[in-house]
Order: sequence, then structure tokens, then C-alpha cells
Amino acid sequence: MMKRAVLLILGAGSLALCAGWSSAAPVVPADTIYVGGDIVTINDAQPSVEALAVKDGRILAAGKRRDLEREHRGQATRVVDLGGKALLPAFIDPHSHYFSSLTVATQVNVFAPPAGPGKDIPSIVAALRKFRDEHKLPRGQLIQAYGYDTSAMPNGVGLTRDDLDVDFPDNPVIVGHVSMHGAVLNSAAMKQFGISAATETPKGGVIVRKPGSNEPAGLVMEMAYLPIFTALPKPDAKQEVEWSRAGQMLYAANGITTAHEGATHAAEFALMQRAAAGGAHIIDVVAFPFFTDFDAVLAQNPVDTWGRYVNHLKLGGGKITLDGSPQGRTGWFTTPYLTGGPGGEQDWCGTSILPDEVVKGFVKKVYDLGLPLNVHANGDAAIDQFLRAHEFAAAGDLSKPRRVTIIHSQFVRPDQLDKYVAYRMRPSFFTLHTFYFADTHILNRGREQAFFESPMRAAIDRGLRPTNHTDFVVAPLDQMMVVWSAVNRISRKGVEIGPDQRVTPLEALKAITIYAAEQYGEEASKGSLEPGKLADLVILDRNPLKVQPMAIRDVRVVETIKEGATIYRAK
Ligand SMILES: [Zn+2]
Repeated sequence: MMKRAVLLILGAGSLALCAGWSSAAPVVPADTIYVGGDIVTINDAQPSVEALAVKDGRILAAGKRRDLEREHRGQATRVVDLGGKALLPAFIDPHSHYFSSLTVATQVNVFAPPAGPGKDIPSIVAALRKFRDEHKLPRGQLIQAYGYDTSAMPNGVGLTRDDLDVDFPDNPVIVGHVSMHGAVLNSAAMKQFGISAATETPKGGVIVRKPGSNEPAGLVMEMAYLPIFTALPKPDAKQEVEWSRAGQMLYAANGITTAHEGATHAAEFALMQRAAAGGAHIIDVVAFPFFTDFDAVLAQNPVDTWGRYVNHLKLGGGKITLDGSPQGRTGWFTTPYLTGGPGGEQDWCGTSILPDEVVKGFVKKVYDLGLPLNVHANGDAAIDQFLRAHEFAAAGDLSKPRRVTIIHSQFVRPDQLDKYVAYRMRPSFFTLHTFYFADTHILNRGREQAFFESPMRAAIDRGLRPTNHTDFVVAPLDQMMVVWSAVNRISRKGVEIGPDQRVTPLEALKAITIYAAEQYGEEASKGSLEPGKLADLVILDRNPLKVQPMAIRDVRVVETIKEGATIYRAK
């Protein structure tokens, strides 16, 4: 706020000087002035302007072209004609898994169409074979894939180890489930990671077995998958900077200049710090250490260093995960799934990952440190568990603003939204589910619940300021698709998923700009185009507020600008 106040005073001073002098020389020359296209500010007090002036990586002024050119156009000022394109604040990612972006470049995409080729088992195996052959991978080399979507498989018959063993007898293969909470392993991978008929299913875990036997069938989820995930190979020192930059370019290409790392392990954060110190960062990254590693990260990074960027990397707060995913049927509900469990279980309500006592302890620890908290909760039982933990940990003052974000809140009930309001919590929704997974949710949870998934309208009407995310690599990084899904709510099969929960394009944009800035406590410097804020900008080929709602997903990122410098330009 200090900086902004100073700039405002400077601005006022320059106006007075201009009025007093007959000379046209600008008092504060800008580095760049943008003109000639729609400038969408996401600032309700001044929703659109004709021109935007940038100096030293910050926004100097926003207003009428005539005024800005008179006051801020110096000899060295670059005037950029948008040529009818639209200028907006750059997008802020409220939840994804940044660290995964480092390895995506070296893994096989098996997302279901349109995000990838994984429409059935033969297509997935073919993609894996193609990758092996193109990269000439030797025998024994681990092959990893991401984005496997069980719900997209014809007749609901999922990928098994046997499907993979035919073509990959000697290479361990791990096909990551789209939820990121599990994977299908072939026999060589099971051998490498110690999964066999003798392996007991851990509490809160899933090991799908072959019918009538104890032999693992391939899919391993949740607590059974965690040790495998932890043991997966990480980049070496040489690759750290290179992979970090490649990962950040995926974000920059989608107009994102602040990325989220949604469940950071201590070793990963150490790597991120090394890469950042090595100059890898072209964007800001906010990391939320996972509850398993929270103490270890805190031991290396004292609490007073959290919340501040060093080399464009900051620790955002603590993260705890209370359930799985509804599409993987591991989301934790108060009522059973209509389709049973992932292993054929009856009366299946999903899995609780942690006992109440552990959740209460972690929430209280984070609150007592005064740090923000991110909670992964999809099903209503998981959300209830968190609300119980909050009522325990915040007993002295239930409504104190604590920057608490309930990530996904996918199947939040109306009475739980009321509690979010009372307790000043923020939902970060995942409206892409209305496209990617809603047809499955209708089968699993019934129409009524499926239609109220990610209920953004209900949240905003209650005065909440929700954000909206991709959960990358669960869904592709595509911010216009995020906006499209919040505005249209139409499934892959063309079903309207709770049209009463649609929001306006402007509201959908706020969920990835100003509300996301608030989620990080960065609303004074990001999220809208106002003097004093960072010049984190995105240029789109069209104004998403002016195209037909169904065409929003066709709007393309043309250029991404971080603190005044272009970091991405579409070819
Ligand atoms: Zn996530």
C-alpha cells in the first residue's frame, strides 16, 4: 500500500506540473504505453480504459489515451498498438501442480481427447510405444505417462498391468491417473516399487486386485500410491534450471505469470529454491508445502521468510489433503456412490485419508503460525471434516480472516457454503469438471449433486470471492477453457451441468485474476490494471467479454508480459 500511495502522490504532482507548464514534456515518461485495443482492467471503479502506461515493471497510469500520451509519452517511450487485440491483467493460477510441469516435458500425455490421445486402452498403449520408439528408450528404462482418465474408457473397463505387459515386458511403466492420486503399473514397475500379492492395502489406500485373487491388477491409488510417487526419479542438478524454465513456459504460454505448486515436498522445494537462485524463474511461483513435509520445510525456512518472494519463489502456506477425487471414486462423501467403489466395493462413500485428530493438529499448527492454509476437499464429508478442524483450531475467533482456501470444494453443500461465509474462507473451484468429468459424476453421484458441482454462482451470490483452477496436470493449463467452463457449464456429452450455477465472463475472469491475487495476499500488487500494481499483463487475440460465450474457449493468448517484459509471444 505504501508504494501505491507514493505513486498516487507522484501522479497528482505531475498533473499539477503539466497544467502549470506550457511545455508538452512528460514529467514521468513511461517505458511503454499500450493503446488501440480493449483494455480490460478487472477494476470495478474503472472497468475499461483507452491506454495503459508502464514504467519500471509497474503500471504507471491507466486512462484516456490523450491524457496518457500527454503526461507519459517521452522520447524513449514505446507506444504499442494492440491492433484490436485485448489487454488484461495476466492470469494468476489459484491451484495447480507446478512441480509436475518440470517432468511433463519428459512424459507421455495420455489425457482423453481433446487434451490427449487416451480415448481407450489401445490408444494409450500406442502412445506409450510411440514415445519409447521415438526416444529410443533402452530396456529397463522407466516410462511415465500422465492424464490417464478411467472414466473415458469404453464400457468402464480400465487399463491393467496385463495391457501394458504385452508391449513392455522389460520397461517399468507407470501410467499416472488423471487425479494424480494414483497410477496403473505394469509388472516390471510393480517389481521395482515392491507391489505384489503379498502387499497389504494400507489404510486410506487402494490396490485393485485381479478378480478372485490377491494379485494386483494394475491400479494403485491414494496412500498405497504415495510411496511410489515419492520414489519416482527427479531431475539432476543440470536439468533443474532447464526443466524449471520449460515448465514455466507452459504457464506463460497460457497467460499465467503467477503459478501455484499445490502439494510441495521438502526435497522439491529445495530444488525449486536452487533453480530459482540459478535464474530459472520467468514467472512467480507460490508453493504450499504438503502436511507430510511441512515441518521439514519450516525447519529450513523460518516462518518470517514465508509469504515473501525470493527470486520469484515464495512459500504460500500449509497444504493438507482430506480426500481423493470424485472421478476416481475416492472423494469422501456423507452418502454412497451410486456406482460402488473403484474395486467394486458396495455402499462406498470414498476414503477418508486422515483421522480427525491429525487434521485438527495440522490446522491448529498452521493457524498458530499465522500462515495461510490450503485444504484439498472434494466430497462433502471431507469438507465437514475440515470445518470440524477449523471449529477446533480457531475456537477463539472463528471468523478471523486467515486466508483459508478450500481447494476444489467440488461437491460442497449449500449449508457448507454458508459456513465458508461465516468463517471467511474462500473456495477455489474446478469448473473444468463440468466439461471433463460431469458425465461421470452424473452416474456416480446423481444429477442433483452433479449439477451443483463447483457452484460458483451460489458462492458469489453469498458474497464469496471464489477462484477457479486447472489442477494441472489433472486438466491441461488452459485459462480460457477455465473461463469457458465457468460461463457455460456444458459436459463432453453436451449436457448442461446446472445452468443456474453459470457466472458471467467478467466474474469468471475475476476468479483467475483479482480473486486469485487476494487468495495469495497479493491484491495490492496483482490481479487488476491499476497504477502501482505490477505490469503483469496478457494480450489476447479477442476480448473474452465481447465474444459469444461458447467462443470463449477459442480466444488465444498472443503475448504474456511479466513486470513489463515479454516472456511469451505466440508464433
Ligand atoms: Zn491438486
